[in-house]
Amino acid sequence: MGRKVIIAGNWKMNKTGAEGRALVEALLKEVASFDPAEVDIVVCPPFTTLAEVRPVIAGTKVKLGAQNVHWEDHGAFTGEISAAMLKEAGVEYVIIGHSERRQYFGETDETVNRRLQAALKAGLKPIVCIGELLEEREGGRTEEVLRKQIRGGFAGLDAATMAGVVIAYEPVWAIGTGRTATPQIAEETQAFIRAEVAALFGADCAEKVRIQYGGSMKAANARELVAQKDIDGGLIGGAALEASGFAKLISEALAK
Ligand code: PEP
Repeated sequence: MGRKVIIAGNWKMNKTGAEGRALVEALLKEVASFDPAEVDIVVCPPFTTLAEVRPVIAGTKVKLGAQNVHWEDHGAFTGEISAAMLKEAGVEYVIIGHSERRQYFGETDETVNRRLQAALKAGLKPIVCIGELLEEREGGRTEEVLRKQIRGGFAGLDAATMAGVVIAYEPVWAIGTGRTATPQIAEETQAFIRAEVAALFGADCAEKVRIQYGGSMKAANARELVAQKDIDGGLIGGAALEASGFAKLISEALAK
């Protein structure tokens, strides 16, 4: 059986509670005809908007995600949120290691790994982001960078657990820039990521693990990207902030 497509919207620091509620209300109408057996649809609002979005999507095909999680259960970690708190808030998925967290908030492969372990322990479904900077790609270091992120970020996991983790490959130069990786570049890189997973966790795990592409994905390019053998969906920023465009992107991804 093939891997199920997963499309997740990362709202970043956008949408108040009222705005978030309006967005998912509109989204639910737009995705009414989609088959949940074919696609996992996830929205990841800011922490304060989770409570507003939760009742609107409860029991529907749209699932709730968060944008970060801390590795400790509780304590003096001002500004952080624990996995248990996310579970209580009805969260199912959590984004870990987004490039904006790596770039602006000192996230490292080691902290990604700690957050990942905590999320898994609590039964959250992690979406772990990896990706190279523009100068790293231009310097021919993409594979070296990704290998390090994979080895560090996924250290200590067993193959069965790793198979349930979603990897989001997001070339940093394509995020929010309007500059998408070509389907060929994205596929070539994601095939490399899958091969690395195979080397570390075995071929069976690599065959199961879902790898999203992220970076200026929109309705106009989703079909060609998700049609690639090693692209199993998308992590979407800007194009997830408006219901009809996001739904169109999902339908394009499914039309692959
Ligand atoms: C992201 O933030 O994960 C992302 C891919 O953003 P955008 O779609 O806006 O490039």
